[in-house]
Amino acid sequence: MEFSNRQIPTRRDCLSLAAAAALVATVENDSMCLGADQQSRRPTKAELDRVLSQPTLDLHFVEQPVVVKSMELLKAGKEYLLRTRSTSGLEVVTAPNPTRMSEAYPIFLKNIAPVFINRDARELEQLLWEVYRHGSNYKLQGIALWAGVAAAEIGLLELLGQASQRPVADFFGGQRKRDIAVYHASGNRGNKPEVEIEYLQKLVADSGAKAIKFRLGGRMSRNEDSLPGRTEALIPLVRKTFGDAMALYADSNSSYDTANAIRIGKIMEEYQYGFYEEPCPFDWLWETKDVADALTIPVAGGEQEFSMRNWMWMVENRGVDILQPDLHYGGGFIRATQVARMGALAGMQVVPHMSGGGLGYMDVVHFASFTPNIGPFMEFKGNTALPVECSSSSLKAENGIVRCPTGPGFGVRIEPDFVKRARRVEIIS
Ligand SMILES: [Mg+2]
Repeated sequence: MEFSNRQIPTRRDCLSLAAAAALVATVENDSMCLGADQQSRRPTKAELDRVLSQPTLDLHFVEQPVVVKSMELLKAGKEYLLRTRSTSGLEVVTAPNPTRMSEAYPIFLKNIAPVFINRDARELEQLLWEVYRHGSNYKLQGIALWAGVAAAEIGLLELLGQASQRPVADFFGGQRKRDIAVYHASGNRGNKPEVEIEYLQKLVADSGAKAIKFRLGGRMSRNEDSLPGRTEALIPLVRKTFGDAMALYADSNSSYDTANAIRIGKIMEEYQYGFYEEPCPFDWLWETKDVADALTIPVAGGEQEFSMRNWMWMVENRGVDILQPDLHYGGGFIRATQVARMGALAGMQVVPHMSGGGLGYMDVVHFASFTPNIGPFMEFKGNTALPVECSSSSLKAENGIVRCPTGPGFGVRIEPDFVKRARRVEIIS
């Protein structure tokens, strides 16, 4: 069985692949389907528990303690930076998600950063639990908490990378690929189909992407479209315009009830879409599963998921086909990797949601470089204005590919002059 690059195998395809694998030893593209033995069964609760209880990071490279001396939140224009220093004199500057930090910086300064001070960064996984408990932080679960925890985690991963002179990928099992294919995502709604087509053509021309995603429905709109008839017109029009070789994805951003989600999904099936993102309101787990069960194309979701228990349910019950943790909103690389590893037990792919701004586009590329069950194309929304120096990658989408930086940590340096211009953010009491 073969798949073109515009189709991700469905649960049915993968199950039939499992049967076919008795006769055919290999699947052509191992990023499209995992081993047949992983496809054919549903993971047990005990197996999923084990993923969450085992260490995620391999830190045996880091022989000496890396004690966090300080964490300073800086702001330059609309960008936020985090400067983390160790007691041994290391200093790293990393990029939180700017939009979320602008909303939640008091929580970061008061409730999150203090948990990491004077602690050995090698205890990072334990610290993720402690920060969740600290001062009843768990009551803030959601972007308010986890986007700030991700900022701290990324700072500590960079610190560990610099201390050991190892790339972050080494802490997660090692790099598997450097050239990361991307899909260019459009953020538009409410424009006429022909106007959106022109916009998508521009995205493809600028990036060389071999895959695109556009928005359907009205976003949390209880079945209302952003423009009457836009969704039904766009689905065939995008396929007709870009041809069979282009991988097409579409995101309803929680627009539909079950019946309408299936109705729209059937049109996407007819035009061979690669996945259908967030068909129902994001926390309608049962309805989303019903939609996934009713369709042959994969259903994707999870950008608004913060509960590891809910992730576990989604994996155990195949609540979606493709898992989409956000590396910033969901609490960082470790939690997203735990989601990926649970998904791997069920033969599920991971295609992280990319929170735009800061270095979100680069973070997704790093995650894709070391995650075995990563999907074929990663989300890309264009580069941001944050100035970085990187000798190993342009960080741009070229011919549809972004190269993953190499070198210690994340392999980039935020321009020192830009950091100098940033001012420190303080708590206003
Ligand atoms: Mg989405």
